[in-house]
Amino acid sequence: MTEHEDPSSDRLKQHFAQRVIHQARQVLEAWQRLQRNEWNGVGMQELGDATSLLQRYAERFEQTEHLQLAKAIGQCLQGVADNRGRLNSGLISELNLLMQRLSRTGLRHGDRLEQTVLPPLRKPVYLALQHLDRAERLAQQLEFFGMSAKPFDSANAFRAAMLERHPAAILMEVDFSGPGAGLQLAETVQQGLQHKIPLLFFSHDDTDTPTRLAAVRAGGQEFFTGTLDASSLLERIEVLTHVAQYEPYKVLIIDDSRAQATHTERVLNSAGIVTRTLIEPIQAMAELAEFQPDLIILDMYMPDCNGTELAKVIRHNDRYVSVPIIYLSAEDDLDKQLDAMSEGGDDFLTKPIKPRHLIATVRNRAARARDLMARMVRDSLTGLYNHTHTLQLLEDARYRAQRDGQPLSFAMLDIDFFKKVNDNYGHPMGDRVIKSLALFLKQRLRKSDLIGRYGGEEFAVVMPNTDAKTAAHVLDEVRRRFAEIHYPAQPQDLSCTFSAGIAELSSDLDSKNLSKQADEALYVAKHGGRNRVAMYGA
Ligand code: GH3
Ligand code: MG
Ligand code: MG
Repeated sequence: MTEHEDPSSDRLKQHFAQRVIHQARQVLEAWQRLQRNEWNGVGMQELGDATSLLQRYAERFEQTEHLQLAKAIGQCLQGVADNRGRLNSGLISELNLLMQRLSRTGLRHGDRLEQTVLPPLRKPVYLALQHLDRAERLAQQLEFFGMSAKPFDSANAFRAAMLERHPAAILMEVDFSGPGAGLQLAETVQQGLQHKIPLLFFSHDDTDTPTRLAAVRAGGQEFFTGTLDASSLLERIEVLTHVAQYEPYKVLIIDDSRAQATHTERVLNSAGIVTRTLIEPIQAMAELAEFQPDLIILDMYMPDCNGTELAKVIRHNDRYVSVPIIYLSAEDDLDKQLDAMSEGGDDFLTKPIKPRHLIATVRNRAARARDLMARMVRDSLTGLYNHTHTLQLLEDARYRAQRDGQPLSFAMLDIDFFKKVNDNYGHPMGDRVIKSLALFLKQRLRKSDLIGRYGGEEFAVVMPNTDAKTAAHVLDEVRRRFAEIHYPAQPQDLSCTFSAGIAELSSDLDSKNLSKQADEALYVAKHGGRNRVAMYGA
């Protein structure tokens, strides 16, 4: 028997794969610590050590994907060392990209298209429910959302599986294998584990406080009661197993002095902040649209236009009302500083500025701006981009696509006969369907696709680098799968469909007309009988 056919060798391999994943987490954690704290030599050393170890494990246990990433990260860190320990925007961005890829290798789903390049380990969710048929149905529903799940019919089978492979999460019914026995079972299988597995409890009936307390003590992070539906379960699992994506802060420096700008860049780069410098303030608006900084550092005095004038111009654009602006200047006249602040600035830093002070100011301002922005641009029910922001994203994408000569598609989706859902099943059920479609789109579309909630039961998707035909293909697959979802309801289960209209950008089109065309295509899809995808002009 060759090594490949030996099942115990396969199991061994899986066991070692866990080790590699564990080490990958160490790398991500070291990276996360760097992001939060100062980028000092100790932190970089930790990251370097964790990466070397990952490379060794990945090599030994033949995890090619991790090996490739560990090597690339190692090269980046070598690049920093070669640069006399200095980071620059290119290295930061590259490291960030690699970390994002690394954070996805342990996840069970990811970009559909990237999957061919980098197949993620699809760890299943273990389902331990009293009724096997219910668990099987739930598993099937989860599959629709791209998550694999494994139902169990006995405590022994569950225990055996736990010894073989750790799941992404466990859903345990309180009474699985006997009254209250599920609680204990979940607790015992986790004993001695260094990393606890996300644990969710379920009880068909509403339970008393002692049971819930016992669930908390057993390590339960969630307690579901009533009817289990796949989308809310998935939503929780997503949150519990999510590996945060750490985007470095981006700062645009506008300064006519190259030397001063370079100095500011160096200081910020050393803290892992990505920078871009503009010597010509006149180009500020184009650069803002292109770079999308979290924060702007503005020189007070420049020959062509001064900082306060430029701040006013920037603030005149709705888009940038909330991007923090920090003035940097030799000015130590307090009155002038106050004037500058009233002209749309958020802070005033006087040169020469202490690096630590600059870094702290930038980080605090940028963090708050991001937090605020996230609340402003997202729809609260679904977490998708709201109408206004979706249109802004479309406009940005249009600009880039026309500049780079790349295709761009815009799709509008509308749930079919949604009024009937509300009328027959009630508004909360309607909300649930909306949320579940939102989640479904997030799961099924690529990371580069921008998904917005356009209106009540209407959605919009901006698809960069995608022609209409490809967009139609992708969305038709989503449509087909979405129609297969059954929402548990009385008197009978509910399923929904949606229609979609797609338009592709051409060189002479603006984003307003692009969305109009998508809307017209949606109209065609609706009148053609619904539950279909139509392309504009086809
Ligand atoms: P069509 O197939 O032509 O799209 O039919 P429809 O019933 O989906 O279209 P229509 O636009 O007539 O109805 C949309 C309904 O969606 C009306 C409104 O009550 C409901 N709706 C809008 N926003 C929400 C929401 O946030 N939650 C819920 N539950 N319902 C909403
Ligand atoms: Mg509608
Ligand atoms: Mg509708």
